[in-house]
Amino acid sequence: MNEREINSVAVLGAGTMGSGIAAACAEAGCKVLLLDVTQETAEKGKQMMSAGRMPMVENPDSLELITTGGFDDSLKLTRNYDWICEAVVEDLEVKRSIFSRLDDARAEGSIVSTNTSGIPLRSIYEGMSEQLRKDISVTHFFNPVKVMKLLELVPGEDTTPDVTEALAEFCRSRLKKGVVYAKDTVNFIGNRIGCFWMLAGFHKGCDARRNGVSIEEIDALMTKVLGIPSTGLYGLIDLVGLDVMDLVARNLEENLPDDDAGRKYLEFPAEERAMLKSGQLGRKTKGGFFRVVSSEDGTKTKEVYNPESKIWQSASSVNINQDASSLMFGDDEHGSFVWSLVSETLCYAADLVPEISNDIVNVDRAMRWGFNWKQGPFELLDSFGPRRVVEKLEAENRKIPRMLSVLSSSNSTTFYSEDKSEYLGVDGAMHPVQE
Ligand code: NAD
Repeated sequence: MNEREINSVAVLGAGTMGSGIAAACAEAGCKVLLLDVTQETAEKGKQMMSAGRMPMVENPDSLELITTGGFDDSLKLTRNYDWICEAVVEDLEVKRSIFSRLDDARAEGSIVSTNTSGIPLRSIYEGMSEQLRKDISVTHFFNPVKVMKLLELVPGEDTTPDVTEALAEFCRSRLKKGVVYAKDTVNFIGNRIGCFWMLAGFHKGCDARRNGVSIEEIDALMTKVLGIPSTGLYGLIDLVGLDVMDLVARNLEENLPDDDAGRKYLEFPAEERAMLKSGQLGRKTKGGFFRVVSSEDGTKTKEVYNPESKIWQSASSVNINQDASSLMFGDDEHGSFVWSLVSETLCYAADLVPEISNDIVNVDRAMRWGFNWKQGPFELLDSFGPRRVVEKLEAENRKIPRMLSVLSSSNSTTFYSEDKSEYLGVDGAMHPVQE
């Protein structure tokens, strides 16, 4: 039995994520301490949990398990908690200052984690005590915590296995999360691949628009047929916000390896740059690529923006009547767009194992649980027929990514066995899929 069993949790930061994590832990029956810059701010975070159209808890009584406080007065109380989860602003110096103060406050043997989405863990623990380096991990929850199944666990160089084991056990069995094991590389797994798809999508979408494919068609092509949520590409960018996408791109610029295939997509195309500059960011500014306009009689119309002509017009609904494979290998404008964006995204993922994950299973789970794709990249490749994809890549003189090369030289024709009980490893052999 792991002696580091988690039954109580201190959450540092009571914003969107901290409140979500604290609410989930309280709902799971844990004693929770929620701290922020002041007790008032932490209390506001606690109020948020039961408010609005999407409360963070099913049972508001569970909030009685949460005590709030300010860092200055109450950081010392963390000594009574098994797991201390940091979720303050995404700023290296702010996070480091919290962790250096935490060292004196917390109890020996407690588990520590950061909910960073993009700061390398090694930069957070650099120069910190030996004990903290052993006890720390990334616990990357997705927003909203209550809804999203994915939890990415990322140990540091010195993290002891009992720390990640205890976190995995707690998050799986008490918080009902899907745990994925990632490595300390920029954006971990889900956001590394998901943001590549979105940033490459800006460029491929721009090319497709020039070839007469509309924004509504692009979104329809990127949804149901491929098993991607109905927000599609531009709908998702509107939800995230162009400002956040720009921050993501700047962080990638700093932290991606020099030869990474995503580097060429980090600068937005001119039209999207203009939208960013004018503050047309997405849903948060009541308009990005789409907006909803209410007329005086109360009827609502969905409109779409044409980034080239800068004109809004009513959005048309598009139905795609082809299956994913015929689109992927079709040679009309829809087919070339789908092949271009999807093949690059799948190749990107196939080249990142084992760099970001030891195996393909964790990559597929991250995209299913974090982005709500019906199938992860390797499952999609299986549905298209990996050897058929390789043939088309070869015909286009494109580089064959690592895992497709592994598959080509193995005895297998797919990444998973038919009953999905086995997967193709980096070593070219089949291995059992672990729960
Ligand atoms: P947020 O802005 O909602 O909350 C951040 C909290 O940090 C606030 O409560 C604020 O009072 C506190 N804070 C601000 N300045 C501080 C300081 N100097 N010292 C201490 N605390 C300070 O942010 P969030 O969206 O909850 O993000 C928190 C962390 O989770 C970040 O590292 C972020 O990258 C990560 N994350 C966010 C999302 C998301 O979709 N929002 C998803 C995954 C991970």
